[in-house]
Amino acid sequence: MHKKPFLPEKICPVCQRPFQWRRKWRLNWEAVRYCSHACQKRRAIAMDAHQAVMNKENRHD
Ligand SMILES: [Zn+2]
Repeated sequence: MHKKPFLPEKICPVCQRPFQWRRKWRLNWEAVRYCSHACQKRRAIAMDAHQAVMNKENRHD
């Protein structure tokens, strides 16, 4: 019976898709959160937008 080698998997919080361990992440897999650069960027943009809204709400002038 053939068994696939086990690769750790995570769910990308941006696109909600599972992604598998890659060789380039062998040194920092614990720190990897996004499946791709695109998702990392999208997340950063989303957080920026959220902060802009927060700043607006906190302003009282
Ligand atoms: Zn993703």
